[in-house]
Amino acid sequence: MFQPNRCPYTPCAFHLEPPSRFFVRKGSYQPLCRNRPVPRFRCRGCRRTFSRQSFRADYRHKKPHLNARFLDLMVRCVGQRQAAQSLGVARRTVEHRFAWLARHAAAFQRNRLAGQTVSGPFQLDELETFEANRYQPVTVPVLIERNTFFIVGTAAGPLRRKGRLTPLQRRRRADHEACHGRRPSQSAIAVRRVLSVLRLLTPAPFVLESDRKPLYGMLGRRLFGNRLAWRTHSASARRDRANPLFPINHTNARLRHFLSRLRRRTWCVSKTLRHLQAHLQIASLWVNYCRGITRRTRTTPAQALRLVPRPYRLEEVLAWRQDWGVLSPAFDA
Ligand SMILES: [Zn+2]
Repeated sequence: MFQPNRCPYTPCAFHLEPPSRFFVRKGSYQPLCRNRPVPRFRCRGCRRTFSRQSFRADYRHKKPHLNARFLDLMVRCVGQRQAAQSLGVARRTVEHRFAWLARHAAAFQRNRLAGQTVSGPFQLDELETFEANRYQPVTVPVLIERNTFFIVGTAAGPLRRKGRLTPLQRRRRADHEACHGRRPSQSAIAVRRVLSVLRLLTPAPFVLESDRKPLYGMLGRRLFGNRLAWRTHSASARRDRANPLFPINHTNARLRHFLSRLRRRTWCVSKTLRHLQAHLQIASLWVNYCRGITRRTRTTPAQALRLVPRPYRLEEVLAWRQDWGVLSPAFDA
């Protein structure tokens, strides 16, 4: 039977430090979205009533049963319009659920990593994509723990279109910039955001592997000083299993495979950088906590890092609210 472990109202004293019998049972009610009655409680501290629903991540949703299927579609190369059709809901519903899912996924990861130590080695690389059209490239730095393929962090930042351009492309870029202004290149800001996750995770010296882009060494030294051992490898070497950067190359190739908007030739396109970042958070939740490192092992990256005891089903990672930080219920409690 469900036992509330704290008062869900954050201003109440029994939210932070609940005594053992801080609540009394107060019957139950029948919600529209579930088959079984939901138990109700009253807090002895603030006298407010709450129910089991108050602890669930989907406590305000009209159709909570859609969430796990929606998460599944979002990591199986399905676009948001297709997902709306497949689930039989409006596109607006899917857009709202997408934003909620991304917030939940980010909070879930933050809460699992709080107070933990991950010693590495880590690998970093940027994959390139675009928002809306090819004249608005985007860089996506991805940072992983090398041995477990755990996605530590992702970010998305704008780039100016460079490289070999035909005269027509050059003219189009000029037209685009006349209209929208010169696009900034913010690779450094995006990479910095990803690397800063390591500040709290690694108290001891650690190894970061990447290609030879000088930016990584420079930012790494600025953020971590002598704590960082930066090891570089050739980016042009054959990208097979023998390549020392295989784990990060493989992770980025898989992200392109899972996320429709990152496929090389597709009709799905990121309309905005913000939504791309949101989608990456959703993919990280699934890759780190639900999916086995390989299909055969079934061990998830988070499990291999001993952050959590076992693989979680989609329903489980979506079950508990994560907006209370480290006080958010763990789903196996
Ligand atoms: Zn209370």
